[in-house]
Amino acid sequence: MHIPDIIIAIDGYSSTGKSSFAKRIAREFSFNYLDSGAMYRAVTLFAMENGLISDDCKIDVDSLVKAMETLDVHFAEGGTFIGDRCVEQRIRCLDVADKVSPIAAVPQVRAYVDARLRELGARRRVVMDGRDIGTTVFPDAEIKVFMTADPLIRARRRADEMVAGGKNVDLESVLKNLQERDYIDTHRETSPLVKADDAVVLDNSHMTMDDQMVWIEELIAEKLCLR
Ligand code: C5P
Repeated sequence: MHIPDIIIAIDGYSSTGKSSFAKRIAREFSFNYLDSGAMYRAVTLFAMENGLISDDCKIDVDSLVKAMETLDVHFAEGGTFIGDRCVEQRIRCLDVADKVSPIAAVPQVRAYVDARLRELGARRRVVMDGRDIGTTVFPDAEIKVFMTADPLIRARRRADEMVAGGKNVDLESVLKNLQERDYIDTHRETSPLVKADDAVVLDNSHMTMDDQMVWIEELIAEKLCLR
């Protein structure tokens, strides 16, 4: 199936496998993959390292906004970079995950990330995963998926992933972190996590990656009248 240069927006709850799914779509359809969560995580790490967010998540918004004027977050070979430093591994740690949702709720941070994502997506043939891609960043995306799965299944998957990556985690703190992030993401004022009216729900609690690929190929064929 030849897929034209469209935008595929994959939104949904934390740890539903959005990025694994989006990466597989990118590989199989020769699309560019953009991880919007990584941008928020990089801004969070930047804020942590510069003392702009406290342990209890109080954010010095004015200083953060000022510092972001010269902040260079981008994607390159190896993943996410701040300037010439690769932060791909560092931004996946739980201390960053614990602070990312409050940072992502700051409207100026969202404006910064949105502008970058729109620049990167302008060439189209892009699959992007996040929380507000189909509603805010690319409301004109041709394909919109909203992913969900049972919270305990999500926590187990994320914990397994972290353990495989050599991190020391327990299931309970992973579950707590993803439930907290879901709460903040769905309740924030600016671009809350919500299903776009024209998004299609994918509950992958009991689906393999191959099942999901069959599902999306059918969705694309149907929406774009291919075949
Ligand atoms: O996708 P990931 O779990 O890496 O995203 C980290 C956090 O970044 C999310 O919990 C959410 O708070 C924020 N985010 C967002 N909007 C996006 C992508 C991520 O608010 N488009």
